[in-house]
Amino acid sequence: MDSFETKCVQAGYSPKNGEPRVASIVQSTTFAYDTSEGMAEIFDLKSEGCVYSRLKNPTCQVLETKVAELEGGVGGLATASGMAAILTAILNLCDTGDNFVSVSSIYGGSYNLFNVTLKKLGIECRFIDLDASEEEFGKKIDDKTRFIYFETIANPCGRLPDFEKFARLSKKYNIVLMVDNTIASPYICRPIEYGVHVVVHSTTKYLDGHGVAIGGMIVDGGNFNYLNNPRYPQFNIPDASYHGVVFAKHFGNAAYINRARSVGLRDLGGSMSPMNAFLTNIGAETLHVRMPRHSENTLALAKVLEKHPAVLWVKYAGLESDPEHAKAMKYFYKGYCSGMLAFGIKGGREAAAVFQKGLKLFKIVTHVADTKSCVLHPASTTHRQLSDADLISAGVPAELIRLSVGIEGEQDIINDVVNALNNTL
Ligand SMILES: *Cc1c(COP(=O)(O)O)cnc(C)c1O
Repeated sequence: MDSFETKCVQAGYSPKNGEPRVASIVQSTTFAYDTSEGMAEIFDLKSEGCVYSRLKNPTCQVLETKVAELEGGVGGLATASGMAAILTAILNLCDTGDNFVSVSSIYGGSYNLFNVTLKKLGIECRFIDLDASEEEFGKKIDDKTRFIYFETIANPCGRLPDFEKFARLSKKYNIVLMVDNTIASPYICRPIEYGVHVVVHSTTKYLDGHGVAIGGMIVDGGNFNYLNNPRYPQFNIPDASYHGVVFAKHFGNAAYINRARSVGLRDLGGSMSPMNAFLTNIGAETLHVRMPRHSENTLALAKVLEKHPAVLWVKYAGLESDPEHAKAMKYFYKGYCSGMLAFGIKGGREAAAVFQKGLKLFKIVTHVADTKSCVLHPASTTHRQLSDADLISAGVPAELIRLSVGIEGEQDIINDVVNALNNTL
């Protein structure tokens, strides 16, 4: 089970004699025990096992094990959605009065959570530009700063991080790095190998890959020592809600993920359903087959767009002309850059409307990252409440069109986009 490909197909489940070949959907809320002492051992965290599906479910465990192995972590936690993963991951580190530093070019849903909802809970997000210097990052970090947050491929603007800069910051301040690896997927990038400690996913995207199940995942790298680190008291003082367990001592290098489950899922309740875990697990079996196709189709399209007279600019790190191409070659498997591409259309909002009407293969949806090609014009949909100036500062100018390139035939994809673009000239 060494190769990434084999893990995609088989990790997390191996049938014993006479058992089903495919991991089953265990559609049960609860699990029965012969004695109450047997169940008590699980509550005391002395033995493993399922009691109640809000906390742990066998079908979810298959997916958790698979994604943790794909990311190279020590444990995974499946959640109801990507947003549930991000919230659970953050509340595992932050209390009221704490803060964290996030780059500002991130997924819009995360931006709102950080900028509005967490603020109301008294958790402050300090935004900073992805390319700010280490000194500038340092100025945002104080005793109450609990982690630094960024995305491997920022959705929708497509920018990439300098992992080495973040790893140096983490060492200097002895602080956790949390990364959203949704758009890259572990096939293209494994952030833990570059010093990241907590990886979050919207499995709704490439891990499922077919647009059938909302879900999320948290992976613990097992590479951060919470023990006696004053930034993380919740791992170092006896937890009154868990019989005085000291997580950093009891769980060693898997303290983070065990606390996320036994406190986070227990109290917040954002667990994945067994049905969605089953569907996502089937999808993940072909991750290694789909990601090269997504990446190759997108690069071929990006090369055509770069030369098209209706196009102002193209942002795709896979292009040799892209200023971040070197980072893609350094950090991404074979330089693959996934299936999301942004470009600027000449003529702004009006041209964007004409362009989208002309598309046949690409459908207008707010989703990205499945087998079927789709398109979104943020300025007239997801970001329509913003002024033109606000759109620019949010990194989504009015002319920006986001394409999620599927795994249909390359020439069909190119023809569809070029035909629709020609209508705008
Ligand atoms: C979609 C997405 C999310 C949110 O995930 P949901 O499953 O929709 O809750 C978070 N981060 C990124 C990068 C995304 O693309």
